[in-house]
Amino acid sequence: MSPPAPDRSGHLNFVIDAELCVACLACVRVCPTDAIAVAGDEPLLLQVVDEACIRCGQCLPACPHSAVKVNGEIGRALAIASQGDGVLILSPESVAHFYPATPEQLINACYEAGFRAVTRGVIGDELVAAEYLKLWEEEPWGTLIRSTDPVVVETVRVQFPELLPYLAPVTMPAVAEARYLRAQHGSELKIAYAGICPPVSSSDLDAAITFGDLDQLFRIRGVSVLTQPTFFHRVPEERRRHLSAAGGMPLALLEESRYSSRRFRKIRGLDALPAVARAVAVDRLDLGFVDILSTEGALDHPLSGPTDELYWRRELLASTEPPRSRQPIVDGAVVASVGATFAFKPRRLVPDPEAVGAILEQIGRGPNGRPWDCGACGFETCQRFAEAAALGRASMRQCTPYQERRADEAQRAAAVDTMTGLSTYRVLRDRLAFEIERGKRSYEGFAVLFLDLDRFKEVNDQYGHEAGNEILRAVAGEIRNAVRASDVAARYGGDEFVVILTRTDLQGGARVAEALRAGIEGVGRRLGYPSGLITVSIGLAEFDPRQPGEGDLLVSADRALYRAKAAGRNAVA
Ligand code: SF4
Ligand code: SF4
Repeated sequence: MSPPAPDRSGHLNFVIDAELCVACLACVRVCPTDAIAVAGDEPLLLQVVDEACIRCGQCLPACPHSAVKVNGEIGRALAIASQGDGVLILSPESVAHFYPATPEQLINACYEAGFRAVTRGVIGDELVAAEYLKLWEEEPWGTLIRSTDPVVVETVRVQFPELLPYLAPVTMPAVAEARYLRAQHGSELKIAYAGICPPVSSSDLDAAITFGDLDQLFRIRGVSVLTQPTFFHRVPEERRRHLSAAGGMPLALLEESRYSSRRFRKIRGLDALPAVARAVAVDRLDLGFVDILSTEGALDHPLSGPTDELYWRRELLASTEPPRSRQPIVDGAVVASVGATFAFKPRRLVPDPEAVGAILEQIGRGPNGRPWDCGACGFETCQRFAEAAALGRASMRQCTPYQERRADEAQRAAAVDTMTGLSTYRVLRDRLAFEIERGKRSYEGFAVLFLDLDRFKEVNDQYGHEAGNEILRAVAGEIRNAVRASDVAARYGGDEFVVILTRTDLQGGARVAEALRAGIEGVGRRLGYPSGLITVSIGLAEFDPRQPGEGDLLVSADRALYRAKAAGRNAVA
């Protein structure tokens, strides 16, 4: 068994089109490897992290905006076609993609595009199936995990290294076929593959493209598929199966599965892998042959098309399948390895636990004292989100509870004057408008007090700004104590304050104003300043529901304030 050629980076690349993406996070929710990361914060930009992507394609149908794109190596495939001496392995699912073109028209189009030979991936399936049969007959195999699905293989390599020794040492059909073709035609042969699920990365294929890429290749080469003859003008390489089913499973093994043999387990989807890993590596159970695929098969792969057309695709493919060959179709004289070893691939980067803890702290906990785990960020749990964020692959902008708390805090910060703890001008303005509207409806008046500390600038100049701030805080405390919960006490700016006294007439307002004037006079004494240094002038105005449109209340209160100042200060007017 010859060692596998070194891998090169992925054949298919998943990318997110920033123009189409609305950052709804639907793709993040379905990605099994957290490979979709935040690339920018304002606005939220998403990208696929190539080394974490296992090319499962789940993000493709999940995106409601068709923003996820998949690109194969179309440039390389084009070069092979243009040189006219390469081979195209065209996987059988192509008949569904190119329908209503017939398989004959499609293959004729591939020739016309420049490929010297076109095969239909059957030889690869036959080679792989024969190898599985051989392995299965070699006892004892406690557990043997099917290794023809690149998504399964990548998931095992990255997430379940304990299963690596159980992966069947068999390569994927497209790779097996490429090796066979080179053994036949020489090691320099250039080989392109067009299909759904190429190996994630492998040097055995010179190019791998999607059917969408093949469409584009035809356009570039000026080839029209539908106008091709409906009969072969050049018969393609062998296309009849002998012992395999599509995907490289031997029919004989599939027969065994029909009898619910305990030596054969059929698993579809990656969700069962943790249980398989536990059974094999922890409980030391022999599971027999584990026939595992990430989907029902290539026809059910997200790249194949919508799930609700699966049965149509199956029927179409079955109707174009040529009759089985009675004889082996693989030339026994051609010696090509179908072996594979699957190396451990380092787990995704491990985040710093301290950074994860700090992010969890920022997120906080839900009302029940437990992590929110609300899923709004696209991750199942806060823990997984925090890990991705610690690696720089997620942004706090994705976390709704955190953003809501920040918004609350910002709103509170905007509502409260940080120096005095009274309401800000913004709250005053909104509440004044609200009280006027309410007064008009309920026919109730209210009073407004405008307060201005007397000669405060002199106090500041003489005793310093720190002393001035202390006085402002003490005056604010006095005002807070003098008003009811339903009233509004706000800092208007500098040493000016405004109080709205709800459901209070002019006389009531005057009483409160007088109490405030006296209280503030006492503030100076309490803080140890000379008597008469800290005083306030107060202007009073009333909202009269009988004359609701009569001028601006704050202006009226301000005018009254000037009258109080003119009357010698430390007064109410
Ligand atoms: S192809 Fe799969 S692994 Fe890659 S980004 Fe999409 S969902 Fe994630
Ligand atoms: S599913 Fe993903 S790629 Fe599509 S719009 Fe939402 S965030 Fe963007």
